[in-house]
Amino acid sequence: MIISTTVNFRDYGLKHAEEKAELTAEVLKTGLTSHMVNGMMDHREFFLNEIGNLHNISELWVARSPTVIKQYGEGFNNETPRDNIDKRVLLSGEKKSITTETPSKSFLRVTIPFVASEYGNPNCMQCHNAKEGEVLGVVSMIMDTTDIRSSSFKTILYNVAITFLVIILVFIVINRFIKPYVSIFYSIKNVMHETYRGNYGARVKVYANQESSSVARLLNEMLQKLQTTFEELDKKVYIFIKNKNYVKDSDPLKNINDTIDRLSDIYKFKQTIENDKELNDIYSRIAFILKEKFKLDDFTMTELDVVNKTKKIVYTEKKYSCDILNGECRADRIHASVDSSIFPASCERYYGEDGSEHICTPYSISNDLTLILTIVTTNKNDTDRVRAIMSDIEDYITTARPAIVSKKLMQILNTMARVDQLTGMYNRKFLDEFVDVSIPQALRAKTSYAVLMIDIDYFKMINDTYGHDIGDEAIRVVSKVIKDQIRKSDIAIRYGGEEFLALLYNCDKENILKIAEAIRIEFSKQKIQANGETFSKTLSIGCSQFPQDSESIWKCIKFADISLYKAKRDGRNQVIMFDKEMLNESDLGDSF
Ligand code: GH3
Ligand code: MG
Ligand code: MG
Repeated sequence: MIISTTVNFRDYGLKHAEEKAELTAEVLKTGLTSHMVNGMMDHREFFLNEIGNLHNISELWVARSPTVIKQYGEGFNNETPRDNIDKRVLLSGEKKSITTETPSKSFLRVTIPFVASEYGNPNCMQCHNAKEGEVLGVVSMIMDTTDIRSSSFKTILYNVAITFLVIILVFIVINRFIKPYVSIFYSIKNVMHETYRGNYGARVKVYANQESSSVARLLNEMLQKLQTTFEELDKKVYIFIKNKNYVKDSDPLKNINDTIDRLSDIYKFKQTIENDKELNDIYSRIAFILKEKFKLDDFTMTELDVVNKTKKIVYTEKKYSCDILNGECRADRIHASVDSSIFPASCERYYGEDGSEHICTPYSISNDLTLILTIVTTNKNDTDRVRAIMSDIEDYITTARPAIVSKKLMQILNTMARVDQLTGMYNRKFLDEFVDVSIPQALRAKTSYAVLMIDIDYFKMINDTYGHDIGDEAIRVVSKVIKDQIRKSDIAIRYGGEEFLALLYNCDKENILKIAEAIRIEFSKQKIQANGETFSKTLSIGCSQFPQDSESIWKCIKFADISLYKAKRDGRNQVIMFDKEMLNESDLGDSF
């Protein structure tokens, strides 16, 4: 802007000087013509000097063309061309301007032609022997333009000074009024960016400006509140998570969200298992979480009864590769995880495929129950992943603990309700349930049961002779003899006071008699202790076959009872197989 103004100003000055020169030339021309027309050529010198003395005109001279010189001579002052510029303008008839600059001065030389024309006023051709358009002479002026140049410099200086002044003013205004807002804006932007990334500790810079500092303070107070609240919340919610090992994010809000997600999942799981009916449902639910949530595809859960030293596999996914049932569980003994990837072959019970790893973890469910979770992995990545999620798995199993304990208690109570306390044999309640569930299945699967009804001969006499306790002891001895003689798949029930029912699984007629005889003989050999002396007793046994004798198990039990009745009637201490003929003989048979 400064340069443009300066250049324009100077151009304008020079143009103005040129115009002045042209005007002067025109005045000169008119003046000279007047002098000539009025016959005052002797006063011409004075006129020329007066014009030449005009302000800023340093020099002024007139040069005649050869035609004029020829007609009128060179004039008083030898008005011939002084230099080449005069000559060139005389020849060309075109105005010439030249600017000369020295360090201290500046000049504008202008040479203007006087062109002959018969159409002007006056008609040049009246006095001159010239052609139309011929150059009659030139006037040359040297004008001092130093003051134009110096005023240009002044203009530059003014412009620069004003511009700087304006810049300084603008800077002061920006610094004073706008900068605090811009700075706080950038500070807020940075703080928001940090906050978005989870760093609630960043604060907005407080500037001296009143409005911006109050905005900064308000924002900082709000951020402080957010930071304190989130950190408190994070700590409080975190308490509920048992897995403290997972890597926490630097963003407390994200941590709270993660923790609430975990808690919500665990809470839903807890609610679901609380409504489960059976213990197996809970184990299946844990297995589902292990499969679907933790993406495990090869694992086993084993229940260890710490008191009775019994073990039971409660869930297997894929295949079972540990003979825990036949020996001691290392994880249970050391009460800690056994990880084969940390120490190979650390447990001799494990017989999984070569290259596979196992992590066995004991979870104490109650004083007498431990759950062992065996997880098998086949590659290092999977092993590392499993190790990292073990604490999360623990969260779920620990959550399931009260439900497992209560279901286990229920199971024990249910078992107790179905087991006779004196003999440890099943009772009639169990028989009812067994008949409802297993007998229709047995009919469909064409499996058979031999029915043995066993009764102690003259039992009443034991009570009468030795007392009730010895009678109980005799009952225990019978139950032990029966249990010893039958297989695991068979079922023994204390049917009445000293009456027992045995259901022998898939047993043919020959074997029925064999087993019944074995029971009878074995019991007769038993020496029962009573107040320092011993005695022996005998048994009578009645047998029938299900479903050969009847498709109703209850009828078969009745038939076994009829056979027992016959055995008693025929002298006791014997085994009698049911025969349809007996229905005719028996008084009871009438009802069949
Ligand atoms: P039988 O040879 O005809 O079977 O003669 P029995 O004396 O054994 O006669 P019965 O089977 O009718 O006897 C049942 C007796 O068993 C009646 C009852 O006093 C006794 N009893 C029933 N339950 C128990 C029990 O739990 N303990 C004892 N000590 N006695 C019982
Ligand atoms: Mg009886
Ligand atoms: Mg009896």
